Amino acid sequence: MASPHPNLELRPLGNTGLKLSCVGFGASPLGSVFGPVSEHDAISSVREAFRLGINFFDTSPYYGGTLSEKMLGKGLKALGVPRNEYIVSTKCGRYVEGFDFSAERVTRSIDESLARLQLDYVDILQCHDIEFGSLDQIVNETIPALQKLKEAGKIRFIGITGLPLGVFTYVLDRVPPGTVDVILSYCHYSINDSTLGDLLPYLKSKGVGVITASPLAMGLLTENGPPEWHPASLELKSACQAAAAFCKEKGKNISKIAMQYSLSNKDVSSVLVGMNSARQVEENVSAATELATFGKDQETLAEVEAILSPVKNQTWPSGIQQS
Ligand code: NAD
Repeated sequence: MASPHPNLELRPLGNTGLKLSCVGFGASPLGSVFGPVSEHDAISSVREAFRLGINFFDTSPYYGGTLSEKMLGKGLKALGVPRNEYIVSTKCGRYVEGFDFSAERVTRSIDESLARLQLDYVDILQCHDIEFGSLDQIVNETIPALQKLKEAGKIRFIGITGLPLGVFTYVLDRVPPGTVDVILSYCHYSINDSTLGDLLPYLKSKGVGVITASPLAMGLLTENGPPEWHPASLELKSACQAAAAFCKEKGKNISKIAMQYSLSNKDVSSVLVGMNSARQVEENVSAATELATFGKDQETLAEVEAILSPVKNQTWPSGIQQS
């Protein structure tokens, strides 16, 4: 059957030659990190995502202590389509047991991930939340180990992820050009925090593909609000709650406004949103297709931005201090 959303935009990812759907499927919810998700719901959200034109799926061994990778693997297998029709990224170095970016651990990690995902290779392997490791180890040991995995055909491209934006420039300024293909930034390109925008020209000059994750600020920009563990300050949480209530009152949905905000910058290849049901998939894909047809809801966006202006670009600490 032809896709009902054949127009979900594909965007090039840096110099990789990959074309990612502008809405990417964040699989952390499949690890039940935002509340329990049944295997049935996990598989049907992956099926619905693919049916509606999403070709990019992101996970990590850390999410739900390997549960997300297992669920995503089942969902992808159930699609029954050729492997080259979807793009998978997973991560290494962060586990429920703790962080380990050693060459030995990340080399073992990919084999474990491939087994859980039921795949022969992943498209992108990313060092997960590198601000919790030694950045010099990432440069001198972890990335060289990932290059060997590339040569072995277990991964196609190398990425790094983290919250503080300075980790990206630190690493990219120290590795040979073309070594790191992709960066994944989160919670820095959404209505309440758009600081990633300042880094985009630098990333473009390096030929690095950009993925932005958490357009809903890990639940802050939803009607239901964030999970218990959310690290934002009370001030930021209550401002987002006020913005969500304002939208609801107006008959609008804050999550749609937030998705459209993140999707509007075409220098970002894919906006990774965590989804745990077919309904959420449909809503987020519709946000993208409506944006392409009608443009942003400028009036509501301006009102939400005004509510959030006292907390604009407020973030939270993450990682170990680097000397
Ligand atoms: P998010 O901002 O995408 O928010 C996810 C939450 O919003 C979940 O509770 C989800 O069920 C809910 N949601 C999704 N669509 C909705 C809708 N239309 N209406 C209402 N609620 C909706 O945060 P996230 O899941 O943390 O980030 C997305 C993905 O990005 C992750 O799953 C992960 O794959 C990736 N990510 C990576 C890193 C990293 O590498 N360090 C960090 C954060 C996120």
